[in-house]
Amino acid sequence: MDLLAKTDFDSLFAECRDHLVNLIRINTVNPPGNEKIAAEYIAEALFAEGLEPEVLESTPGRANMVVKIKGNGSAKPLLICGHLDVVGVEARRWRHDPFGGTIAEGCIWGRGALDMKNMLAMEMSAMLALARSGLTPGRDLIFCAVADEEAGCKYGSKWMLDNHPDRISAEYAIGEIGGFSVPMGRKTIYPIQIAEKGTCWIRVTAYGEPGHGSMPHQTNAVAKIGNAAARIAGANLPQHNTPAMKTNIRQISAALGRPYSIILPALLNKRLSGFILNRLFSDKALARTYRANLHNTANPTCLRAGEKINVIPSSASMEIDGRILPGQTNESFIREIKKRIGPGHHYEILQSEPPVEGSADDPVFEIIRDVIADHDPTGIAVASQVPAFTDAKFFTKTGAKYLGFSPVQLTKETNFVDLLHGHNERIPIEGLRWGLKVFLDFIGRAIQ
Ligand SMILES: [Zn+2]
Repeated sequence: MDLLAKTDFDSLFAECRDHLVNLIRINTVNPPGNEKIAAEYIAEALFAEGLEPEVLESTPGRANMVVKIKGNGSAKPLLICGHLDVVGVEARRWRHDPFGGTIAEGCIWGRGALDMKNMLAMEMSAMLALARSGLTPGRDLIFCAVADEEAGCKYGSKWMLDNHPDRISAEYAIGEIGGFSVPMGRKTIYPIQIAEKGTCWIRVTAYGEPGHGSMPHQTNAVAKIGNAAARIAGANLPQHNTPAMKTNIRQISAALGRPYSIILPALLNKRLSGFILNRLFSDKALARTYRANLHNTANPTCLRAGEKINVIPSSASMEIDGRILPGQTNESFIREIKKRIGPGHHYEILQSEPPVEGSADDPVFEIIRDVIADHDPTGIAVASQVPAFTDAKFFTKTGAKYLGFSPVQLTKETNFVDLLHGHNERIPIEGLRWGLKVFLDFIGRAIQ
């Protein structure tokens, strides 16, 4: 259905821009989150248009918003989702108030402008546009705005899954991360998340001889754990080529031709990938992302040892932020770490969530490819795998296929990887306008 043609786009965009500014002005830094105010703000705007949003409080001050427009039942529901919370700021490093929603230099400034209050404003606008259009979609269109994504989803998507799975159950879930423009060669690539790594947070403990600090010996637990940390932080774990990364590389190579079609496929060669990433990638952030997507990673982040300067403790531990690739398990990951660290340590899993993997061989992915190509003659949507953690972990547990698609056109100054969680987060107003148009067109085609 042509939702875009049924919409007074200029006035819808003006509303969308104002909603984004207002959402940025509601401070939802997590912790503590305080997402309830933002959930109520969204619910009020939808209620005013005759919809029946629900605000579901998961713990005092924190809430999720969910609303549905019913379809005729010819296809299963499509869920559009996003998180209401944002990460913290170092306000003095910003050129504009991070919670001001200032419009300057052609951009809307503020924490959440790209991650991901922009998407929430577009999702609100899509619901409003569909409600006003009088069209009946084939699928139910569900919109769910959740708390707590930036701190592990306990009060957000995980809480919705545990307490109200019927409200969010869908064939597809559309959320972050993807749909932003990345210029490459003469084309513009739009990565679309189809997969993401899992988490496996572990504690490794070393044991040794306790003793007096005046008398060194060879079995000091602090030294053992220090050595283990150095060994694990300094080296790559074995490479594994996931189906999502193979698809990503194949699609980018086909779109861009040489030299990409020579260099990128060579990344799948385990003997060449290190050299290519170190020497042939001028974009270091991109190299880091590819490296993280070809290996399980184990980053030591916390060390605990000792109570007193003159006592050798009998144990010392480190916590490792482990991220595992689709197709890998906690067991296979820990085997890789043990091989690197050597024998004699104790391993304990503190928390873990499995990886998520979908497919680009999918009719809704095809719709995304088509809308991108229709709205950007240089644009090509390609499948991507995300090294980080998103609400996809929980929205897919109802059986939904997850696609990260939050369309926006960025500029050289507003690069997604730099601005995400960084200082001076902002979105170009024209980029948001383009994104809303693409998103509406996509929704119309995906729910017909
Ligand atoms: Zn996010």
